[in-house]
Amino acid sequence: MSPITPQPGIMEIELYVGGKATIEGVSDIVKLSSNENPYGCSDAAKEAHAKSGLNLHRYPTTDHQPLREAIGEIHGLNPDQIICGAGSDEILQFIAQCYAGPGDELVYTEHGFSMYPILAHAVGATPVKVAERERVVDVDAILAACTDKTRIVFIANPANPTGTMVGGNEMARLADQLPEGCILVQDGAYAEFVESFDGGAALVNARDNVIMTRTFSKIYGLGGLRIGWGYAPQAIIDVLNRVRQPFNLSTVQLSVAEAAIRDQAFVQKCRADNARMRAWLAEALAELGVPSDTSCANFILARFADQAEAESCDEYLKTQGLIVRRVAGYGLPNCLRITVGDESSCRRVAHAVGQFKAGAR
Ligand SMILES: *Cc1c(COP(=O)(O)O)cnc(C)c1O
Repeated sequence: MSPITPQPGIMEIELYVGGKATIEGVSDIVKLSSNENPYGCSDAAKEAHAKSGLNLHRYPTTDHQPLREAIGEIHGLNPDQIICGAGSDEILQFIAQCYAGPGDELVYTEHGFSMYPILAHAVGATPVKVAERERVVDVDAILAACTDKTRIVFIANPANPTGTMVGGNEMARLADQLPEGCILVQDGAYAEFVESFDGGAALVNARDNVIMTRTFSKIYGLGGLRIGWGYAPQAIIDVLNRVRQPFNLSTVQLSVAEAAIRDQAFVQKCRADNARMRAWLAEALAELGVPSDTSCANFILARFADQAEAESCDEYLKTQGLIVRRVAGYGLPNCLRITVGDESSCRRVAHAVGQFKAGAR
């Protein structure tokens, strides 16, 4: 064996597979594979982006104070308890890096986001996958899986790719009953799609072992910008900031994100449009014999008869220029995850699934 070997766990990592963006030979494409905002980002964010090019020779702030204050103002949170990163993925990485290592266990659920086992392996910890109940996170199963080695439990709420949610009381019960020294991470990437949901911020306030992460990648339509944030008890924030690089966010990221979060009218409009088109698409697919659980996010997990039908439908959609997401890697081989697009995209998907069901191949 070569004397040059990576740290324990690194070679266990299966590379993250992103949503496809192109189909060879097809030009009129609708990408519904990465839960992006079909309306793009707010005009205020675009203006801030155009202006942000003027001072590129200046280093950004190290403490992100203006952005943290804007987030605090909008969400009614203490800015000192906020940390910003290159996507919420970076915040999740800080958490794993600071609180888990070799010999520790990191719990996530059956159909949980594929970044969680990656983060566990990256720090040499052991990812522990817990069964769900009918595609819904099962708090009792999680508690039963916890040991004295469990350091972190990751739950996306709403979840990806199922779109289902855990209720506030269940989440509080989980936080209460976790073993001592174990952190509950509520990944709120899709929190804004749920009317008057705080993403679990109140639970953070009420406990010393709960963290919430949020992102600008989904409802804000800024996945390409790479910016997210976390909200946690002060003691945890002080720990996470030690591993954060002083200049982890650029002047461009900081100013665009601040403009974006101040434009809540855009967020409200996107939430309402998403809810309307999501209901329309779910019903249209159900009428075609393709059911789904009630989704709380900006995608639908469409269930087919079996893996073969899901895969051939995916192939047919591709011929029609429609890119959706296969989720066999998430333990859902008979499903396709379809991002809720704008009205014309939703109609195109429903029409194509109808043609597929009618025998088109
Ligand atoms: C999209 C997504 C994220 C957000 O990732 P970013 O790094 O902020 O772009 C986090 N968690 C889940 C479950 C997601 O689906």
